[in-house]
This record gives sequence, structure tokens and C-alpha cells, in this order.
Amino acid sequence: MLLQSTITCPHCSVAKTETMPTDACQFFYECTGCGTKLKPKSGDCCVFCSYGSVPCPPIQEVRAGKPGAASCCA
Ligand SMILES: [Zn+2]
Repeated sequence: MLLQSTITCPHCSVAKTETMPTDACQFFYECTGCGTKLKPKSGDCCVFCSYGSVPCPPIQEVRAGKPGAASCCA
């Protein structure tokens, strides 16, 4: 389980590594470069799934095929 994900801003390409919460999804993320408030793309549950190098922990479990993995908010 990876808990750090590098978010790359689609507007200014600034990348920043953030630690992800394991028990909740982060829906909004404010870019440290240009201040744009990022929201997940449609179909994604959080900003890490849309813009991060690593998807959020619940999605990692689902993708790993872990039985009984809780989907966070999908
Ligand atoms: Zn930005």
C-alpha cells in the first residue's frame, strides 16, 4: 500500500508529493503552484485517482483484487 502520491497540476504542471489519508477520499486539492482548486475527473473518486501518480488506498486495494476491499465512495 502506497500512501504517498505525487499530484501533477493539469494547469501549471507543478508536481507535489502528498500523503493520502487511508480512511477518506480527498475530493479537492489546491495546487501549490497556481492555486487552482482541482476536482476529480468524472468517474474518479478523488484527486489522487485523477491527478496523482498513485491512486488512493481504497482503489489500490480494489485494483489489487483484494476480496472485500471497500470502495471508498464509488
Ligand atoms: Zn497549478
